[in-house]
Amino acid sequence: MPVLGIEGTAHTLGVGLVEEDGKGHARILANERAMLRPLSGGIIPREAAHHHAEVGPRLLQAALEKAKLSPDEIDGVAFSQGPGLAPCLRVAATMARALALRTGKPLIGVNHCVAHLEIGRGLTDAQDPMLLYASGGNTQVLAFARGHYRVFGETLEVGLGNALDKFGRDNDIPFPAGPEIERLAATAHRGPLHPLPYTVKGMDMSFAGLATAAQRLVVQGTPLAEACHALQEHAFAALVEVSERALAHTGKTELVLGGGVACNARLQAMARSMCEERGAAYFCPPREVLVDNGAMIAWLGLRKLAVGDTLTVESSGVLPHQRTDQVEVTWR
Ligand code: AMP
Ligand code: MG
Repeated sequence: MPVLGIEGTAHTLGVGLVEEDGKGHARILANERAMLRPLSGGIIPREAAHHHAEVGPRLLQAALEKAKLSPDEIDGVAFSQGPGLAPCLRVAATMARALALRTGKPLIGVNHCVAHLEIGRGLTDAQDPMLLYASGGNTQVLAFARGHYRVFGETLEVGLGNALDKFGRDNDIPFPAGPEIERLAATAHRGPLHPLPYTVKGMDMSFAGLATAAQRLVVQGTPLAEACHALQEHAFAALVEVSERALAHTGKTELVLGGGVACNARLQAMARSMCEERGAAYFCPPREVLVDNGAMIAWLGLRKLAVGDTLTVESSGVLPHQRTDQVEVTWR
């Protein structure tokens, strides 16, 4: 019973089709994606929404063709209800409502952050993991505990990806800057690490000042590659420290990665080595579901559909500020 999922919280519009493989895991039938890449400056929500409206019909058709399904063969239509940029959320929701009305299939609203965790469980052997979720707009360490998805630590301001992209803009690296910062960092001369502010407050983190301080290194004449290296080492150490403390606090023994920043091989290596040192299992799902994507929305949609947790069109308004811990968990 395939479910179609539409992701549209920020820069990416994604359409995915997913079914259950008979053993409780997700089988991805299609996962089409298009991302707005501004030529200058950051993401403007209205421009991103315009982009999504423009590419939406094509992506929908491409996903159905790839999965060899007609709209009538899907069992439900899920969409990213929140959190995210309101104009973008509305485009995804409008597409989903139209498709649900046309096919007469149920409509399902999905929390984007929880979808990152659930696709990690859906594609790996992780049972009850801690999720280290680091993307453009979000940076959270979260897990299921006592009936809810709870945030154990998070950024106090910008997501790490946004901080990396801002540093990239200041250095003429086009959006998304993360991959190029990773490439440059790997070429850095391995001298002593340039010190930068390391901000972990309790279980929370802060990255805006870190990016500013890394830029100051560049202005002072530090080679860009060395600044990239220092920026990565400090930021990733904070993510891994908070993840480890969350594992210790909850007694959980599995870590799953999610978010575009988790595509970074250095972050993956640091997270893996922390897990090895404390005897926890480490899982990194494939890249296509680390970044924003429709398949993860379809997968959590499928799980919610199975327990009848659906929406009427009237109750399907978007939730730009929805918090992870507000989600009512009906499917586990
Ligand atoms: P998402 O919002 O989850 O789709 O992820 C997009 C963010 O991930 C952007 O801010 C990118 O700069 C960042 N990103 C993508 N690839 C990498 C990478 N290899 N290293 C660090 N950040 C990355
Ligand atoms: Mg995301």
